[in-house]
Amino acid sequence: MDLFNADLHIHSPHSIGVSKSLSLDTMFDTCKKKGLNILGTGDVLQPDWLKLLEDNLEKDKNGAYRYKDIYFILQTEIEDQESVHEVVFFEDFDMVRTIQKKLEPYSSNILGEWGGRPRVNLSPRELVDIISDEGALIGPAHAFTPFKAIFRQNKFKTLEECYAGATKKIKFIELGLSANTDLADRLECLKDVTFLSNSDAHSQGPRSLGREFNKFYIDNPSFNEILQAIERKNGRRITLNVGLNPKLGKYNVMFCNKCRRRILFKKVKKQVNTIFNQYSITDNFVIYYANDPISSRLDYIEQVSKNKMICPACKEQLNKNFKIKLGVSERIEKISTYNEPKHPNHRPPYTNAVPLVDIIRSIKNIKSSTSKTVLNQYSKIIQGLGTEFEILIDIPISKIENFDPNIALVIQALRNNEIEYTPGGGGTYGQINFQI
Ligand SMILES: [Zn+2]
Ligand SMILES: [Zn+2]
Repeated sequence: MDLFNADLHIHSPHSIGVSKSLSLDTMFDTCKKKGLNILGTGDVLQPDWLKLLEDNLEKDKNGAYRYKDIYFILQTEIEDQESVHEVVFFEDFDMVRTIQKKLEPYSSNILGEWGGRPRVNLSPRELVDIISDEGALIGPAHAFTPFKAIFRQNKFKTLEECYAGATKKIKFIELGLSANTDLADRLECLKDVTFLSNSDAHSQGPRSLGREFNKFYIDNPSFNEILQAIERKNGRRITLNVGLNPKLGKYNVMFCNKCRRRILFKKVKKQVNTIFNQYSITDNFVIYYANDPISSRLDYIEQVSKNKMICPACKEQLNKNFKIKLGVSERIEKISTYNEPKHPNHRPPYTNAVPLVDIIRSIKNIKSSTSKTVLNQYSKIIQGLGTEFEILIDIPISKIENFDPNIALVIQALRNNEIEYTPGGGGTYGQINFQI
């Protein structure tokens, strides 16, 4: 048995908004730099991508698919009738083709050029039945995001509500960038499922690919071993979920559905009389002032859940009423069954990571993550010290200090959970804040 770093949900150039330079070779390069051993193929039901994978992936003696020395799990994402996104893993190409054929009558885009993430006219339950009957594995993608996710606002509150009689076939959920184990383990209905932390990358860049990943303890990198690990059978398991702090995700806090400003609460000493009447508006935020921001925020969330809260910025500036929507953190608060996380015994630890490129960028005060200075420094530190994951998680701080004391400082703070974050929301990523 061995440890493998696996990011099991990505996309191909056949999904909308995906980098055109994403290819097996560019993915391979990033995997080597980061220390990723296994990748999801993304979009495997799309005919052109499927053909490319069939032509280029080699099957080894364990039935694992390989490109050079990076392993791949055949994977796609599907949108069902309820606009819930699901991640699917397949054992082999035969299984992919069988399921492709079964889904075709229910989908207008599954064979299309842009059908990377097909939509099927099936209920979540029907889709789960079709997929699992063939031996493939399915579970909800980015389970808490405000769009296209099972637990989004005004949608399902439990797995059972969504999947009914097929609930037992759901062995995992994907946390998504804006959630972590502490947030998700506040829902009783998730106690028996395994959590996956995947990147959902739309680019091979080192900021996207592997920004979230899982450490698998398995015998070899094949579908069968991954399946056993997700089902926690025969000693196979996930030993660590690694991901962004939820505040760095794009949908952590409440936001206006129109102007996309994020909603924050701040404590003030001066007596605030009228509820939600004192606020300031900046380019990116509406900040409410309250004497007791915690309870004011809860009242506010209550109103937002009822679709009753309108954006004061849009009201003032456009004289129009647009609704505030819940972010991942508030939605979890709303549907949670526990006030504090209750981790089942099988739950592995969750470690925060920030892409190394973002750390370098923040230290050098450079906005663009594709800047030459940033990417050169990135390559240099990897050549000098080891893979990105080793640098972020394992390598002693003293070694990193010899290389660059500022980077060492941030990584130490990250490991000790001492970093401050500006929460993301409304489609904008959060940020790390620190002074050096
Ligand atoms: Zn999705
Ligand atoms: Zn607005």
